[in-house]
Amino acid sequence: MNEDRFIPYAHQWIEEDDIAAVAEVLRSDWLTCGPKVAEFERSFASYVGASYAVAVSSGTAALHAAAFAAGIGPGDEVITTPLTFAATANCALYRGGIPVFADIDPRTYNIDPQSIEPRITARTRAIIPVHFAGQPCDLEAIHRLAQRHGLTVIEDAAHALGATYDGRRIGGLSDLTIFSFHPVKQITTGEGGMVTTNAQELYEKLLMFRSHGLTRDAGKWRHPSEPSPWYYEVQFLGYNYRLTDIQAALGISQLKKADRFLARRRVIVSQYNEAFADLPVIITPVEAAKAQSAWHLYVIQLAENAPDSRDKLCRHLKDSGIAANLHYIPLYRHPLYAGLSTRHQAPPGQSPDRRWLQEYPETERYYRRALTLPLFPAMTDADVSRVVEAVEKFF
Ligand SMILES: *Cc1c(COP(=O)(O)O)cnc(C)c1O
Repeated sequence: MNEDRFIPYAHQWIEEDDIAAVAEVLRSDWLTCGPKVAEFERSFASYVGASYAVAVSSGTAALHAAAFAAGIGPGDEVITTPLTFAATANCALYRGGIPVFADIDPRTYNIDPQSIEPRITARTRAIIPVHFAGQPCDLEAIHRLAQRHGLTVIEDAAHALGATYDGRRIGGLSDLTIFSFHPVKQITTGEGGMVTTNAQELYEKLLMFRSHGLTRDAGKWRHPSEPSPWYYEVQFLGYNYRLTDIQAALGISQLKKADRFLARRRVIVSQYNEAFADLPVIITPVEAAKAQSAWHLYVIQLAENAPDSRDKLCRHLKDSGIAANLHYIPLYRHPLYAGLSTRHQAPPGQSPDRRWLQEYPETERYYRRALTLPLFPAMTDADVSRVVEAVEKFF
């Protein structure tokens, strides 16, 4: 491997058989929503242990569809973590709902169930836990809260394909679970996403939502007096969120490699953990009880003594040809969400930092100290050594 090659923080792994699978579809009769989409859905549902899977055009579309199926509507509140990508919160906004942020657990970086409870109101409709970096959330506590307050749980498992909680794969454990197949994620279809569920009623809503709220199923028609063979009905406002067969063929081929990719991620993580064990200034990631991470990201934190050392390390790595990154800027800090709640707003003349520190002390602490190092299955041992040496050299 070229020593000077820039090492990104994440990268897809496409092999010749993936390319052949896509080429085969291009030579076939179906380019979209044909047999490959159905096959991808079946194999995906079976892999994660869910009854149903619906393929859509992105993880963001999957979140939107799940929010629709969960019945989130105008004014409904949805509790999620601020330590996530914007799409997680936006699915509530797409439905006219309001994202409400809870604080994180300082050990797992996942949403802290104890911080969810005081934020539940009469308007709360759903909880969207995110399995941050691939580490499953405390689902037992989250399900207990959901049950007690009558809330729907939508797991954002965009990071967590292959992760297990209490010995079971993420994907069949809550009302709805969403996945993303963006190139930085465990497997890719270029763009793409999936929603899984065990409930037939939710499954049927998802299918229609993906395609204009339209049904060709005569058993569901509200105007059964229209018997013509060309008849269909649009029953609610849906979208074109379909995945193509071209993408699904890539997904089928990639899914077969998910376990191999994850095994390689685990090896790299243990190499990092071992190397950084000698550097007390670095806090390495842990797996929680009952959780086996899918290791989407390798996030370190710097022990607190030097406030700007994280940014200096980030710059040093960039100068060494290594992409370090920050996942994520807490969502409440972005202008879009800062305007949504008084929780995010400081009294006149006061900087909002103090308000944020009061509301989200653990997220703020994390935000000052965290850094994501490169982690992807196609990384070579030499790549890993280069990252480790660059970090060691800095300290
Ligand atoms: C990637 C990601 C999404 C969105 O997925 P896309 O396929 O990029 O639309 C949603 N949530 C989280 C946590 C993600 O990392």
